[in-house]
Amino acid sequence: KLYNQVQDLKGNIRVYCRVRPFLSGQLNYLSTVDHMEEGNITINSSKHGKGRRSFSFNKIFGPTATQEEVFSDTQPLIRSVLDGYNVCIFAYGQTGSGKTYTMTGPKELTRQTQGVNYRALSDLFLLSEQRKDTFRYDVSVQMIEIYNEQVRDLLVTDGLNKRLEIRNSSQTGLNVPDANLVPVSSTADVIDLMNLGQRNRAVGATALNDRSSRSHSCLTVHVQGRDLMSGTILRGCMHLVDLAGSERVDKSEVTGDRLKEAQHINRSLSALGDVISSLAQKNPHVPYRNSKLTQLLQDSLGGQAKTLMFVHISPEPDAVGETISTLKFAERVA
Ligand code: ADP
Ligand code: MG
Repeated sequence: KLYNQVQDLKGNIRVYCRVRPFLSGQLNYLSTVDHMEEGNITINSSKHGKGRRSFSFNKIFGPTATQEEVFSDTQPLIRSVLDGYNVCIFAYGQTGSGKTYTMTGPKELTRQTQGVNYRALSDLFLLSEQRKDTFRYDVSVQMIEIYNEQVRDLLVTDGLNKRLEIRNSSQTGLNVPDANLVPVSSTADVIDLMNLGQRNRAVGATALNDRSSRSHSCLTVHVQGRDLMSGTILRGCMHLVDLAGSERVDKSEVTGDRLKEAQHINRSLSALGDVISSLAQKNPHVPYRNSKLTQLLQDSLGGQAKTLMFVHISPEPDAVGETISTLKFAERVA
């Protein structure tokens, strides 16, 4: 019995690794990925064939994996949201490793290249339509950003960027009650909102730095389902999180705001790692309070909730240090 419980708990956390392809113009590069098979990936961390390290995860997606293939292994989670479960999907990795590509897609979006966010929502609409004789579903979304441990609404049209508070309200499931909550009923609605959110995320960017790589963005989908026979209400929610870049910043090279940002990112990513690994080890104490990110997601991490972490790596030799540290982070939570 206990063994099964342990299995169940472990089974609620999955880690997938995705390797970005080389970008155009990188034709002669040699990948640091030496070998991939099933759930194993081997990185060659030296130019001379020494220093190989292997890591295991639930799944590895190589550079040729399509958005559709990546999503097909994510789909069962989406279904569980309609059954009243909470789900978190994270994209982790250094800047440029493909986090936004996985969650949203490339800049010029086509149907083929749409990321997890769009596919998840269209799946939700499709499934709720299929269940319409027995259930009535209402879907609404929020989109927020966490930057320097401050929470900001991304679904605003007036450009006002007031700070929001996180409150844990298991009753309504709304942990950021003051962030705009927008009902959606079609994929087109979602595309409009995500575009708005992305525009607002860019507004904070300074000329020099792309802020989107140094903040966490979270698209939260709230689903409420009413059983038409019994009247019972089910609530589930799904957080789709594009994390800040995990690269370590050389403290000797940055100062002031940039250093502060780096420290906030460091702290919140390690707080997330601590929470997920204590859940994976079924530690009785889970340190949710150590960052805004883990406070925000508290109700959706642990318990019956399901977690999927996509860890992204870049194939370039000069990224190998970050690649190894990304994989070590992921191994800790897997
Ligand atoms: P991040 O969000 O981690 O900073 P991006 O998602 O912006 O990284 O990816 C960096 C660049 O690589 C972008 O131009 C993106 O379109 C491209 N890219 C990332 N992953 C893939 C992929 N799997 N296939 C093709 N291009 C990709
Ligand atoms: Mg990005």
